[in-house]
Amino acid sequence: MKLGIILADQLTHQLASLRALNRQNDILLLAEVVEEATYVAHHQQKIALLFSAMRHFAEELKEQGWRVIYHTFDSHSPRQSLLDVIAWCCGQCCSQHSVEDDLIDALVVTECGEYRLQHAIDQQWQETLGIRVECYQDDRFICSTDEFRHWASGRKQLRMEYFYREMRRKTGLLMEQDKPVGDQWNFDADNRQRYQGESHGDTPLPVRISHQRDQIDHDVIALVKQEFADHPGTLEHFYWATTRQQALNELDHFIQHRLPDFGTYQDAMKSGEHTLFHSLISPYLNCGLLTPLEVCQKAEQAYINQQAPLNAVEGFIRQIIGWREYVRGIYWLWMPDYGALNILDNHRPLPDFYWHGNTRMHCMSECFNNTFQHAYAHHIQRLMVTGNFALLSGITPQQVGEWYLAVYADAYEWVELPNTHGMVMFADGGRLGSKPYAASGNYINKMSDYCKHCDYNVKTATDDNSCPFNSLYWHFIQRHQPQFSNNPRMTMVYRNWQKMNPQKQQALIDRAEYLLANLNDL
Ligand code: FAD
Ligand code: SF4
Repeated sequence: MKLGIILADQLTHQLASLRALNRQNDILLLAEVVEEATYVAHHQQKIALLFSAMRHFAEELKEQGWRVIYHTFDSHSPRQSLLDVIAWCCGQCCSQHSVEDDLIDALVVTECGEYRLQHAIDQQWQETLGIRVECYQDDRFICSTDEFRHWASGRKQLRMEYFYREMRRKTGLLMEQDKPVGDQWNFDADNRQRYQGESHGDTPLPVRISHQRDQIDHDVIALVKQEFADHPGTLEHFYWATTRQQALNELDHFIQHRLPDFGTYQDAMKSGEHTLFHSLISPYLNCGLLTPLEVCQKAEQAYINQQAPLNAVEGFIRQIIGWREYVRGIYWLWMPDYGALNILDNHRPLPDFYWHGNTRMHCMSECFNNTFQHAYAHHIQRLMVTGNFALLSGITPQQVGEWYLAVYADAYEWVELPNTHGMVMFADGGRLGSKPYAASGNYINKMSDYCKHCDYNVKTATDDNSCPFNSLYWHFIQRHQPQFSNNPRMTMVYRNWQKMNPQKQQALIDRAEYLLANLNDL
């Protein structure tokens, strides 16, 4: 008899390890584990989503005839780690089965999403438990870790765009034989419009779909309220799907109501609006309720049926078979050293407002509101507002990483770390992006209405009420001259800095120094 371990981000009925097991003979284990739920202060909605989705998934497995052992969360349990729970479970099975054949002779697992746990599975489980471990490749991803390693080997630069084209060829998505549909691989240039609202003739914003809650949801929400009250966020606006059917409903809603405008407004931000035309499916993709290929095929079908334009569908598919697969490849290629990199030598502590959300910077405050109320912020909010601020201020990348890992419903280290460390903080020295995503308030003003509602003035840089992003931007440029002045993509910026008169340069540096010394008061 084998024991199949289904992890919290493996809630997929076609999971490789489930395919390798036999529902007549084998047993499955799903466990809510104290150590996993608390090793960072996960947002309350993330824990509620995962516990509820796990409990629903376990029920579905039982209905299909599987024998399932479900270990519910108990903060006082003597079994605090996953390994403790597995050891206990093996003991339980042994005590219930007198026949030798019925003893557990193998643990079956699908490779997991986090280096720390995979390392333990590979190095520790078999030895500690004295039971053989079978670990299967996670084929829900389009590109295996070996395939990515092969693609990366011998390349000087690992550019996402080239990897993405390989994935288009491999999946056949938006391809006409060996050519991209529309004769262009990438329609990003069409995807940079500001969203001004219905009164300006823009498409009205679709409402967010809500789901009927059952007893499992209610039980989990009560548990999280009781056990995780000190974790970030609130459960007041808990709208997430907790079953595959609900996740599919959300996907269909996105394809019908948001996808057509997804591309056009992909980079836009608006006060009081947290979703715009984004899909909100990352938590479901990452925990397994949806799979990347089915999502992309549905989007492609919308293009074929003329329900969504090519710039939207291509942009959406690129995020999934391009960026998502690419950052996973990067993670497994360079872990465990990747997480410790700090090439820009940043050591400033993360300002407290990242945790309580109170700041006079309206753009930051909007992103924090979304984050704490919904365990969500869209990509540009993460990259160009909260991320950009951390980069310009020189915050310790590991503290930035911990924050992003804690506060989002979709946060798992394999996807969070390359985005934070590589894309936002440039802590990897440019392995992921050819230049840092550093920007002044001008960018935020161009893509949102935030500055109109802000105490700070986005048009000035050195006055007492000037937008902090402006002087911090030039401080960043000046202090990292050795790293970036020879970067061909930053030549223009450094030319502008050199053309500035020395008094203006000094005023910018002085203002930025003042801000950096008083970050918590902004
Ligand atoms: P949409 O905008 O609708 O995009 C569709 C899908 O594309 C997403 O669901 C996601 O699966 C995928 N995707 C888009 N961009 C990326 C990307 N850069 N990397 C990987 N997948 C991408 N995404 C996570 O899933 N988990 C994280 O922990 C995470 N941390 C991030 C941290 C930072 C600092 C930044 C800048 C980005 C991070 N992202 C992360 C990527 C991206 O911001 C989210 O995937 C996206 O905002 C999720 O919202 P959505 O489902 O509405 O996405
Ligand atoms: Fe943000 Fe500056 Fe605009 Fe205020 S003025 S919203 S701080 S970019």
